[in-house]
Amino acid sequence: MAKRPDHFIVAIDGPAGSGKSTVSKLIAKKLGLLYIDTGAMYRALTLKAVRQGLNLEDSDRLADLARSTRVDLVNAAGTLKVLLDGEDVSGLIRTPELTNDVKFVARVGGVRSEMVKQQRAIGIRANAVLEGRDIGTVVFPDARYKFYLDADVAERARRRHKELVESNRQADLAAVKSDVEKRDESDMKRSLGALKKADDAVFIDTTDLSIDEVVEKILSYIK
Ligand code: C5P
Repeated sequence: MAKRPDHFIVAIDGPAGSGKSTVSKLIAKKLGLLYIDTGAMYRALTLKAVRQGLNLEDSDRLADLARSTRVDLVNAAGTLKVLLDGEDVSGLIRTPELTNDVKFVARVGGVRSEMVKQQRAIGIRANAVLEGRDIGTVVFPDARYKFYLDADVAERARRRHKELVESNRQADLAAVKSDVEKRDESDMKRSLGALKKADDAVFIDTTDLSIDEVVEKILSYIK
């Protein structure tokens, strides 16, 4: 992949609740970089599959769907808008049901290759922060900066639970923890694009760190 010498990518990977979304947004804002939430792309595609009533076990149909779907991420006024074929679905892709369905879509090879292609195309146009599961390992293995964020599962569940409560959703902490554990397992065990620390990524345990502390730590490597 031809790269401009001044072009740079910050890759931030990690499991659900590791703090990577909040931190990635802040890093992008502070450094004036494009912010790319790759999980939102898998989520939007899953929403389309569910709406069309597709069988989520049908890999060929899901791969066809990925190739004929446009997901745009629009950084506007400090928030990220997710457009699915032009429709703003930002509020619809974070429900627990949809979150649970993403794993069926994210494990399909034809879906991943299309998503990776689109993510590279966006990342190549601008200096960017990309967050996800496979950014440092698959999407941009040559990224100039790579970080892998993690935290104890109990703390990650607590953060997820707080987010749900704050967005007025019913949530039981034990159930949230079990969902987070199931998601870890499917993200780590799938054969393609599995959640994994790149060998050259900086590992940050965020369990006892505030958001600001994580941001400072990351910036200390970038500056
Ligand atoms: O980051 P977020 O929790 O929104 O991601 C939702 C799901 O999308 C993840 O659990 C994972 O299965 C999938 N995903 C992925 N590869 C990425 C980003 C997300 O498979 N790069």
